[in-house]
Amino acid sequence: MPKITATFNKGYTTNYEMTYQKSIWTGTPSMKSYTLSNFRQIPQIQQLSEEKQFEMEVVGNVLPFKVNNYVIEELINWDDIPNDPIFILTFPQKGMLKPKHYEQMSTALKNNADKKEIATIANEIRLQLNPHPAGQMELNVPKLKDGTKLYGMQHKYKETCLFFPSQSQTCHAYCSFCFRWPQFVGMDEMKFAMQEGEQLVQYLREHPEITDVLFTGGDPMIMKAKIFSKYVNTLIDANLPNLKTIRIGTKALAYWPYKFLTDSDSQEMLEIFKKITSSGLHLAFMAHFNHLNELSTDAVKDAIKEVRNTGAEIRTQSPLLTHINDDAEMWAKMWTKQVQLGCIPYYMFVVRDTGAQHYFGISLVKAYDIFKKAYSSVSGLARTVRGPSMSATPGKVHVLGIANLKDEKVIVLRFLQGRNPDWVQIPFFAKYDENAIWLDDLKPALTDKFFFQDEMDDIKQINPIEDYPES
Ligand code: SF4
Repeated sequence: MPKITATFNKGYTTNYEMTYQKSIWTGTPSMKSYTLSNFRQIPQIQQLSEEKQFEMEVVGNVLPFKVNNYVIEELINWDDIPNDPIFILTFPQKGMLKPKHYEQMSTALKNNADKKEIATIANEIRLQLNPHPAGQMELNVPKLKDGTKLYGMQHKYKETCLFFPSQSQTCHAYCSFCFRWPQFVGMDEMKFAMQEGEQLVQYLREHPEITDVLFTGGDPMIMKAKIFSKYVNTLIDANLPNLKTIRIGTKALAYWPYKFLTDSDSQEMLEIFKKITSSGLHLAFMAHFNHLNELSTDAVKDAIKEVRNTGAEIRTQSPLLTHINDDAEMWAKMWTKQVQLGCIPYYMFVVRDTGAQHYFGISLVKAYDIFKKAYSSVSGLARTVRGPSMSATPGKVHVLGIANLKDEKVIVLRFLQGRNPDWVQIPFFAKYDENAIWLDDLKPALTDKFFFQDEMDDIKQINPIEDYPES
């Protein structure tokens, strides 16, 4: 069992009287979650003004909100409120709702509207927030040969299939920017969930082009080891010649590293990882780290070691977010730290066109500038990272740079992944636009339309959906 010697609140002096769990981080911590129903019990929150607490309540009634004691006590610097990046990452902020939506919900709460009315208003607002960006609900839903639709899976790119186990539709804490937010707010008809590992295996058999299965959610590492092992065993026992890699998309290392250290089934989980790697499959941990501060505790460092000791590789990714990490120096330090800890920097994403994009979004030109500054100041080993990248409807689009072509200033782009694999790597150009924050905002340069536009329109014809997010 690793020794954990995390210091309470990272040694910050605090004026708040802590009423609970001061010393648990040196033992076997148990997770305590806070949501809209009990966040006012958090001692640090009680120190904030009633106005600020009400703002959180307004936003928390629309967007998902969950935080835990590790994030509160170990990651947030309460002497730096309201600017602390992890506070903004996990606690609802007023600006996350557009003024008219904020007004709508705050009026309802002030008028003591009943639960049903609040839920109706919340759902009305949510439906205006592009709950399933990039055509997730229809375009990516795969079918078995017998016509069965697999709503717990997505197959957008040829080699990789996303799998959403029904038991992983939550996380250890919620990120305020998260594009998976509809899954956490009780909009059941929008959930991706599938119980049957068998159906996954059948789909993989029918699609020999798939080499990678990505377990996602929510956070698959919220699952108990016993449940996770069922899925893994089904996959390993199927002995699929095409399957080469199991990926796990998770933020557990950042939000609850004890999952791999001291939780009652932590060793069992690590054994499953070993089973995967010793079966000859590659195990890729796609770890979400949004800020350097998430790498600051001894617990996260120990957890990274434990996971790597199983033979898994940890690749790191994060969106670029105003208010949280729009700082080149921080990214450079974060990537350098990740390499030092044995992780592989993988992606800087552009925040998606859903939820609170207006609050967290960054223009593509600024994102490129931050990426370039950070990238050019780290060693070659950290330059495994790619970005800024948008997961848009036609594919994963990489902003390569700014250039002058025939005296016209353009943004240079390429597909890292495309709905049609033939689109990958072909450079294409958009008119320079300092305000564009997503592919939809860009206009083609030098031509009337982007080279993939006609084919993309055909794909949409075959898979019509309502309220299609344009891109
Ligand atoms: S951990 Fe991942 S899925 Fe969960 S809220 Fe954060 S970004 Fe979303």
